Amino acid sequence: MRTNHLNPLSVVRNLGVLAHVDAGKTTVTERILFATGTTHKRGEVHDGTTVTDFDPQERDRGITIFAAAVSCAWDGHRLNLIDTPGHVDFADEVERSLRVLDGAIAVFDAVAGVEPQSESVWRQADRHGVPRIAFVNKLDRAGADLDTAVESIRRRLHPAPLVVQLPIGREDGFTGVVDLVGMRALTWTDGGPVEEGPVPGALREEALGRRRLLEEAVAERHPAALEEFCDRETLSADTLTAALRDLTRSGDGVVVLCGSAYRDRGIEPLLDAVVAYLPSPLDVPAVRGEQGEERPCDPAAPLAALAFKVNAGPTGRLTYVRVYSGTIEKGATVWDAGARRTERVGRILRVRADRHAPLEWAVAGDIVALVGLKSARAGSTLCAPDAPLVLEPPSAAEPVVSVA
Ligand code: GDP
Repeated sequence: MRTNHLNPLSVVRNLGVLAHVDAGKTTVTERILFATGTTHKRGEVHDGTTVTDFDPQERDRGITIFAAAVSCAWDGHRLNLIDTPGHVDFADEVERSLRVLDGAIAVFDAVAGVEPQSESVWRQADRHGVPRIAFVNKLDRAGADLDTAVESIRRRLHPAPLVVQLPIGREDGFTGVVDLVGMRALTWTDGGPVEEGPVPGALREEALGRRRLLEEAVAERHPAALEEFCDRETLSADTLTAALRDLTRSGDGVVVLCGSAYRDRGIEPLLDAVVAYLPSPLDVPAVRGEQGEERPCDPAAPLAALAFKVNAGPTGRLTYVRVYSGTIEKGATVWDAGARRTERVGRILRVRADRHAPLEWAVAGDIVALVGLKSARAGSTLCAPDAPLVLEPPSAAEPVVSVA
């Protein structure tokens, strides 16, 4: 059986960044790619050098139109970052990219809080059952306020925001966060590493109070945590982490982090949260075909993959696929259930920000790009010719409401 032992599925995170236009999705994505070492040059949104916005039309318009997936590594995990269009005109693309995600970071502007479009994308993600963590961005801006932003999340999106960080400094003076789970300060200076230290004396009381509120909110929603809380009147960091993971994956709570994508290394605690709380492909329900046939996330099962994006790249036509089940091999013949014909897989690429790495095969749970497919379109199911199926269509999407 072709499993890749260096990369067990439990270390894969297929995630997207969801946001209202201008909340900072592109900047956050760039910082993630920078922090994970896949780009060595900082992409800046304004000069058109960003990695995920690679379509010229997209650069011209300054918005993200086409989804692309980029793989990067963090703390022994592989993050497949799926770019979701943030513009209301591309609801189909948002919908399709939401289908292939296992989890997402929802980015909010710390001044504006929840905006109409963040609300509609959030509801779409609800319909697809995408577990989310929230990142309140732009804490460096004048007028930024975490508590107000959290309140708008509670009021408009989710009754249980679980705030796991306390900002250190305000606006221009924002220099880091208190991690309320580990009860430590994480601070950074421009270009420097994230430094770990004790909670500053001036914030100690507030941090303890907020940690208490977090424990209570978690215990209220998580039976095992409640038991420990009743016994010991507190929760250990390990229990808290495990409960936050469960609540994120079940959708019963939303972990809220904060920061500023302008303070580049400050994105690292967000990556730690992605790894800690968002699910791997093994943690999400098995995919189903239209006839109800279930396909487990298992490299040995028959192939079931979904093409979610087709791009004309410099190396030819690239078909981005999410492999749900089985293994897709270089040179193999697959059945395109959309076009009702067989196709030959030319090359398989792991798409990175700086280069594409050729692969011999890709297994269930992974997201890769295929070269050489002629007929596959976004939405096509690719499967084993002797075990054909059409992947279940997405739940009926309500149209994304326009932003006034
Ligand atoms: P997108 O439309 O959601 O992809 O947002 P962008 O990443 O393009 O950001 C929108 C604007 O906000 C750009 O001018 C960014 O430079 C700016 N921006 C992004 N992140 C931050 C941040 O952390 N702080 C501040 N002050 N501005 C930011």
